[in-house]
Amino acid sequence: SKLSIDILTLFPEMFSGVLNSSILGKAQEKELVRFQLINFRDYASNKHHQVDDYPYGGGGGMVLKPEPLFYAVEDRLSQLPAQVKPRILLMSPQGEPYTQRKAEELACEDHLMFICGHYEGYDERIRQYLVTDELSIGDYVLTGGELAAMVIIDSIVRLREGVLGNESSPKDDSFSTGLLEYPQYTRPADFRGMKVPEVLLSGHHERIKEWRHRQSLYRTWQRRPDLLEHYPLSEQEKAWLAE
Ligand code: SAM
Repeated sequence: SKLSIDILTLFPEMFSGVLNSSILGKAQEKELVRFQLINFRDYASNKHHQVDDYPYGGGGGMVLKPEPLFYAVEDRLSQLPAQVKPRILLMSPQGEPYTQRKAEELACEDHLMFICGHYEGYDERIRQYLVTDELSIGDYVLTGGELAAMVIIDSIVRLREGVLGNESSPKDDSFSTGLLEYPQYTRPADFRGMKVPEVLLSGHHERIKEWRHRQSLYRTWQRRPDLLEHYPLSEQEKAWLAE
């Protein structure tokens, strides 16, 4: 089935390169996803098309007004069948930290709406009454939500059935298994004396599988021990780590 994604932004031109290239571009050609860019400045009631204003109580920075975003969302919802209830996702450094688990959850939806902020902040009523999820892509501050929306969209679309070729399975990616991916090698088997591990050339599937599993586990333990807190270790895995 097709995933519909609406993107509310003041800078729609930022999206064309990312959405129309590579795998996202192909996914659109295959009609697995469709994007609609909505400039919420078009919904500003003021004749200067003003979308932001000074904060009540004073202080620096401009705040996004509620009306343009509420009107833009409501207008879009009015074009959809009544039973379609899109998740409305607010891009924000104060949001829930975005993870692969969240990508998997959102990839099950049929319709998503992204709201990209700019300037200093949002009128709090947008957070409270308009959106269903507030998402952050990491503990750093961007100038706007557009890059965050692109990151999240990319990670969701690649999980939809038919988007990636049969060969590449997102199920084996880092995080989806709960562990980081094992080291990969391709030809040549010997490059300037740097050799591919013997076991991978052995053709022995059971041994290769075990080697990869151990490497995944070891790599995760070295680089991201925090991930192991949510990964129930089997007795065998505990023994490998103790070696
Ligand atoms: N003053 C705001 C605060 O402290 O929460 C930061 C606003 S930031 C300069 C402008 C916009 O960029 C935000 O409204 C949001 O849409 C987006 N943004 C910035 N950092 C982000 C992040 N880590 N994840 C998602 N969106 C982000």
